[in-house]
Amino acid sequence: MSSNRQKSLLLLAGAAAAAGFVAVGYRTWHSSRKRTLLGQMRKRMLLDDSGLIEVRDDFCKQMVAGLNGETSSLLMIPSMVDIIPSGNERGRYLALDLGGTNFRCVYIKLGDGKGQIEDVKIEQCEIPEHHFTSPAADLFTFMAEKMVAFAKTLGFSRGHASERPVVGFCFSFPCQHISLNSGKLIRWTKKFNNPGAVGEDPVRMLEDAFDRIDFPVDVDCMVNDTVGVLAAARYLDSSVMIGMILGTGTNACYVEKIDNVRKLAQTPRRRRQTMIINIEWGAFTSKTLPRLEFDRDLDSSSANPGEMQLEKLTSGMYLGEVTRRILLQFAEQTGLFGGSVPELQTPGSLTTPDTSRIDHDSTFFGGPTGDILRSELGLSHWQTFWDRQLVRDIVRLVAQRSSQLIAAGIAALLRQMERDGTFGPMQRTVVAVDGGMFAHYRAFREELLSALERIMGAEAAHQIVLKHQQDGSSMGAVTMAGAAAGAPSQWRSEAGG
Ligand code: ADP
Ligand code: MG
Repeated sequence: MSSNRQKSLLLLAGAAAAAGFVAVGYRTWHSSRKRTLLGQMRKRMLLDDSGLIEVRDDFCKQMVAGLNGETSSLLMIPSMVDIIPSGNERGRYLALDLGGTNFRCVYIKLGDGKGQIEDVKIEQCEIPEHHFTSPAADLFTFMAEKMVAFAKTLGFSRGHASERPVVGFCFSFPCQHISLNSGKLIRWTKKFNNPGAVGEDPVRMLEDAFDRIDFPVDVDCMVNDTVGVLAAARYLDSSVMIGMILGTGTNACYVEKIDNVRKLAQTPRRRRQTMIINIEWGAFTSKTLPRLEFDRDLDSSSANPGEMQLEKLTSGMYLGEVTRRILLQFAEQTGLFGGSVPELQTPGSLTTPDTSRIDHDSTFFGGPTGDILRSELGLSHWQTFWDRQLVRDIVRLVAQRSSQLIAAGIAALLRQMERDGTFGPMQRTVVAVDGGMFAHYRAFREELLSALERIMGAEAAHQIVLKHQQDGSSMGAVTMAGAAAGAPSQWRSEAGG
């Protein structure tokens, strides 16, 4: 080989090595910036042991304030539910379940044997987008029409006076309950913002909607979804003390001693010693909550700025969107996905079902994660193995923060009920949970259990059973309708409802 040829080969090899060196250096620099930012976020989003305790303690403090009728972000609403299905109910009942994304028509036929369910039908109906903001009367007419069509397929017909179908209403929005079947809507949450409902009685509005379409019914009870879940689960197991929702939104209720509900003190002595309290915990606001800049941005562009802080950090409606905002921050600050990523700019383009699929991607190379980023976000930029790993880490971080806060809430409830092991031997306590996020997001459930262990100690946490109550809110509302029809509630008769 001539020396000239040798020289140019050497030069070429040198240039290639230098280019490789620059590329690797550039990558390393980038990935170290990504790792640094991830580390910073992890520190600010996750709580250490004392942070967890602070959230729990502020939660406890605000619960007591809410029960006393003092200023608190927790409404602590007495559910006025003093009848729980006993299993002795008979007959055919209907219920409507209005949650956050869908609404359901429910039917149950209760047989002669104790607790015997002869038939159940649940039909899930999608809510057309315009009904999230249409006048409330239109939304209620839409629901009544769906229910009548459903009821007719089951042989129900228009009845007079005492033969009217009995309907339970699972209405998952904060209401001030006046009796078992009357109340006032305090505010809309989640995606709903229908004018003409706040301050009104949802039961009356529903009965009016049925009247408008000439199919009168008796709406005998209105329960919140958490209360429905608790009622459905307690029917089978008396150690169920908490009902919890983790779906589009989040909320919980629990069994409280009536003497602790100071704001009810004016009312005459009650027959029962306990009352189910709907916490409306999605609205929990506290300096102890780890909220970052992207949380505040999400909040200010939401339908209800300033409200529902805990819900925005934890529930299915928001986790996907929080993740999208974090990915955008990484793209802008660390050059993830090439830096400028118009695909990441669209609010709502990444949903919680998407991020839970990413979290469940257990492949080494993260192929499914890449597929989801391409199909859901339309990301066309080339992703490296490390990019996909980073996305998986971010998704898990968002789920971990949510699980920590939910665990702190559960721990606060257990303390309030004196069932967290600090007041005596730890008792087995069941938390009945319904909602799409809890049902489908396995990795989240695991994180929740480990966060509970951290905050309560492993021994105490092992006495807590998180039980998925499938269709709990719907089943609770329909069996409650049966109970309300058979055994008039004292709350109901006193209110003259
Ligand atoms: P709702 O809250 O409207 O009563 P669901 O309890 O069925 O309805 O919850 C639906 C919500 O659950 C969806 O909006 C979504 O946020 C969440 N969800 C559904 N599927 C999944 C999933 N695979 N992983 C995580 N979250 C999910
Ligand atoms: Mg629901």
